[in-house]
Amino acid sequence: MRKLTTILALLVGLTLTLAPPSPAQGSILENTLTLGSAAALPDLWSGQEPVYSSSQTVAYETTSVAVALPETGVSAEGDAVALAAASATSGGVLSTTYYDIYYGQWESVAQGLSAYLDAAFTTARDVLGYDNSGYGKITITFYSDPSSSTSGYMYWGENGIYLNLLYGSSITDSYLQSYGSTVAHETAHVLFFHETNLDERYAYTTVGGSCTTWVTEALSYYVSDVVYPYGDQYSASTLGSLLYYYSWNGQWRSSWYASGRDYKYGTADSLDLVQLESIGQFLADYGGGWDAIHQTLDELASSGDFDTAFRLAYGLETGQFTTSSGAFVNTLYSQYIYYYLGHF
Ligand SMILES: [Zn+2]
Repeated sequence: MRKLTTILALLVGLTLTLAPPSPAQGSILENTLTLGSAAALPDLWSGQEPVYSSSQTVAYETTSVAVALPETGVSAEGDAVALAAASATSGGVLSTTYYDIYYGQWESVAQGLSAYLDAAFTTARDVLGYDNSGYGKITITFYSDPSSSTSGYMYWGENGIYLNLLYGSSITDSYLQSYGSTVAHETAHVLFFHETNLDERYAYTTVGGSCTTWVTEALSYYVSDVVYPYGDQYSASTLGSLLYYYSWNGQWRSSWYASGRDYKYGTADSLDLVQLESIGQFLADYGGGWDAIHQTLDELASSGDFDTAFRLAYGLETGQFTTSSGAFVNTLYSQYIYYYLGHF
């Protein structure tokens, strides 16, 4: 049995209908929405990833992000771990530049995927500014559970990734690229925790664990869905449209902290997900580019204090616990609202 550690589970199939919350304020916003209908929006969540703890018995095998199904004893994560363990004991290993793939019975998938893996690592490395020094190659363990909504996961602090081959032995290129995107996302988590050791500083269930969650998810989504060349490559404009839509042009708010906390427990709503998808682009574009991200992680590694780290790198504290914004609200959250919506 695994130690009671923390886990990130990458869930797919959380195909949100992307219907925004019903505005209690009436139809005013509806008239101002330029995006029209939810159907016009990209499906951000073809590879969605709520987080949960291995010490919990709650699984988030959901088809709707807002609904968490508690399953006693049979968690998605438990299934996944069992499958992964079974896979790891058979089949061979394919070594790539940065990964050792324990492919089980899916050697051809490993060979196909290998073409997309160098970029998965280098994208995460370049964004986070950390090369996994001293930890060696990251292990990727295949398993296949097409009925699961979990597309992959990793344990905070560990040097491995578990990848669900949702399409079994198929080597269709778009599937391989989707796997590559998952690997890029999880690699960013691996590097993040190796660099910062925040998993040792903050227990998963604590406030610090929630703060850790929004920061690492923001960076991982940025890596996989914005920068990774075989991923979705969302533009700032697309992300801004999503935030505009799901926040009702800023009238609906969720603090960054709340988004991390709710994501951790599988109760994130559409706005929470859009925030985790879009914060990284803002952090990369606001101020010093990726250097500011690198500096933030350096400071987090030494102090573990989120507001100190961001203040040193960006000149502003996060404002992570509130949804206050305004010309005189000197927080990153406030600037983030302005960055995407053009107003506070
Ligand atoms: Zn993640």
